[in-house]
Amino acid sequence: MRGRLPWRAARLREVRVETATARTLVFEVPGWPGHLAGQHVDVRLTADDGYTAQRSYSLAAPPDGELVALTVETVPDGEVSPYLTEVMEPGDQVEIRGPVGGWFVWRPADKAPVLLVGGGSGIVPLMAMIRERRRTGSRAPFRLVYSLRDPESRYYAEELRRPDPGLDVAYLYTRAAPDGASRPAGRVTLGDLAEGGWPAGFEADCYVCGPTGFVEAAADLLLTLGHAPERIRTERFGPTGG
Ligand SMILES: Cc1cc2nc3c(=O)[nH]c(=O)nc-3n(C[C@H](O)[C@H](O)[C@H](O)COP(=O)(O)OP(=O)(O)OC[C@H]3O[C@@H](n4cnc5c(N)ncnc54)[C@H](O)[C@@H]3O)c2cc1C
Repeated sequence: MRGRLPWRAARLREVRVETATARTLVFEVPGWPGHLAGQHVDVRLTADDGYTAQRSYSLAAPPDGELVALTVETVPDGEVSPYLTEVMEPGDQVEIRGPVGGWFVWRPADKAPVLLVGGGSGIVPLMAMIRERRRTGSRAPFRLVYSLRDPESRYYAEELRRPDPGLDVAYLYTRAAPDGASRPAGRVTLGDLAEGGWPAGFEADCYVCGPTGFVEAAADLLLTLGHAPERIRTERFGPTGG
């Protein structure tokens, strides 16, 4: 399926600073077929000598014509991410293939309550779902539990601060909590997901995304809380490439 998707030229239109190490890159991709919130793309870089490198990145925003928005965290010594976040300038070009993925998606026709659990850059496809909910005027109630190192690491901080009726946001800090925070810094616990999520009886659709260890821990906690396995969808941001 993926192999049949064409590579399309993607020209960088805009760069937005999310944190000291993360950038949102908005590309213009002529012929882009549209996508669903939660899907991802492959990005391919080609050097002057023909060497190529490709990585997967989640779509950060709902469909918007030919625009494709990604949010990329700089992995120190990484091959692709530092190029995208530190070197590329508006007007520069890469190739993009997609959209990819049909399971880790949220559709506005879905009416069930939604629990989003994101670790670090795992917030990216969850933010596409939040934005899609707002764009389409969906009344599905959403709860976001966002685990990250410290307040400076928050992506989309301004946007998530704005009132969005029916969306509740809980931040879990793993390294440093802000002064006066009621929860000490630490990894996600059963109590965090019981408090920030939905009771299992509400039959919420759960979307968990982040580094592999985070996803496995959070999905196990959701099972322990009684959420049905078929309602827990996961996306692991492990190393990609090839
Ligand atoms: C479906 C999917 C969606 C993804 N979406 C996003 C996204 O929206 N935003 C985003 O920033 N990243 C995302 N990733 C991760 C991304 O594909 C790359 O793995 C990441 O950007 C690192 O690539 P690199 O070439 O810079 O590093 P590499 O050269 O591939 O790796 C350099 C070093 O860093 C380690 N490493 C690689 N990737 C990671 C990682 N994710 N976490 C920790 N260490 C790592 C490697 O093991 C290696 O030691 C996604 C991954 C998947 C599978």
